Amino acid sequence: MAINHNSKKRIFLSPPHIGKEEIRFVHEAFDSNYIAPLGPQVDAFEREFAEKTGIPCTLALSSGTAAIHLALKILGVQSGDEVFASTLTFIGSVSPITFLGAKPVFIDSDQSSWNMNPDLLSEELEACNKRGKLPKAVIPTDLYGQCADYDRIKAVCAPYHIPVIADSAEACGALYKGKSAGTGVKAAVFSFNGNKIITTSGGGMLASDDKALIEQARFLSQQARDPAPHYEHTQIGYNYRMSNILAAIGRGQLRVLDERVRAKRRLFNYYKNALQDIPGIEFMPEAPYGKSNRWLTVILITPEYFGVDRETVRLALEAENIESRPVWKPMHLQPVFRIENLEFGIRKNLKETYPARVIGGEVAEDLFERGLCLPSDTAMTDEDTNRVISAISRCRKRIVRKLF
Ligand SMILES: *Cc1c(COP(=O)(O)O)cnc(C)c1O
Repeated sequence: MAINHNSKKRIFLSPPHIGKEEIRFVHEAFDSNYIAPLGPQVDAFEREFAEKTGIPCTLALSSGTAAIHLALKILGVQSGDEVFASTLTFIGSVSPITFLGAKPVFIDSDQSSWNMNPDLLSEELEACNKRGKLPKAVIPTDLYGQCADYDRIKAVCAPYHIPVIADSAEACGALYKGKSAGTGVKAAVFSFNGNKIITTSGGGMLASDDKALIEQARFLSQQARDPAPHYEHTQIGYNYRMSNILAAIGRGQLRVLDERVRAKRRLFNYYKNALQDIPGIEFMPEAPYGKSNRWLTVILITPEYFGVDRETVRLALEAENIESRPVWKPMHLQPVFRIENLEFGIRKNLKETYPARVIGGEVAEDLFERGLCLPSDTAMTDEDTNRVISAISRCRKRIVRKLF
């Protein structure tokens, strides 16, 4: 008999979780009549974010993608340049490269952190140096809330003077060697999109030690208005600032960040305790240099041991009204980055499609194949989590019964 699954409450992957103070700051914004744009809430959010992360200069923007775009623009990325990025990431990490007419080159993950592999990066930079064309920037992603190995990546880039931009969009609240995600690189980018660990409904932050970089970004993010009573422009800018209302939400969210990190990490451990002994299930590792915010709990499902593959599990969860999602599809497999689409001249006239330029790629492909992001809502009850756990466990049992 068919079960009406819709009668079960939907469990979401990572919905917003609003605290108690956000509305107070939003009221403040209304009361002061600073609805939009900019205003004192934005200034306060930038200041408080700098205090929280220890990264001194900050710029609140309309999205994380906008923050990456501005950082690349200020670092001088132009048409024809190359920029290195993680292949295992979200499109927002790399689309700004193409906004500037530059070409992304994708670097594979390592097994221990799932983040950009510094050894592959090193080999490729050496090869690029020999060929006489180095990338203008390197953007490692802090995947699912775990920092990339900044020190090793910086050490590899330093001899060539290539700036590192940390894509910390998913890593707000995570630590690298005891310091906030995004510390110590040329610039770091955070996102407050609705699914992130803290949210302003939509928004981003560019953060850096470099005051000049942030001030240039501020200028470009406000339509590049030169100082004059009339609007005077000598450059083309963007309309990328965060509104005062959204900054008010961000201030409240910042106050619950530590709480959210604790809840995310607790959830990860809860899943891990329940599922780790099942053959064919592994959990995303935590590199010894840092502390992940565990934005999403991610598992690997090996069908040879578990009995069914990741997609079967995902569909089984969906049938129970539980949202889960495959690990990001690697950028080098995305149709939009086929070399013909990027107009790599010499191959333009060939009919076949070519993968984008990627260094390695097998690790990310395997993680995509086997990886599943589990519901990681910090407002989830243990009862909800148990529903997810038993749905996953049932997938395994079914196949065992069939086999024997
Ligand atoms: C969310 C995300 C972005 C983009 O952030 P938006 O605020 O949605 O523009 C960039 N990179 C990664 C890795 C992300 O997860």
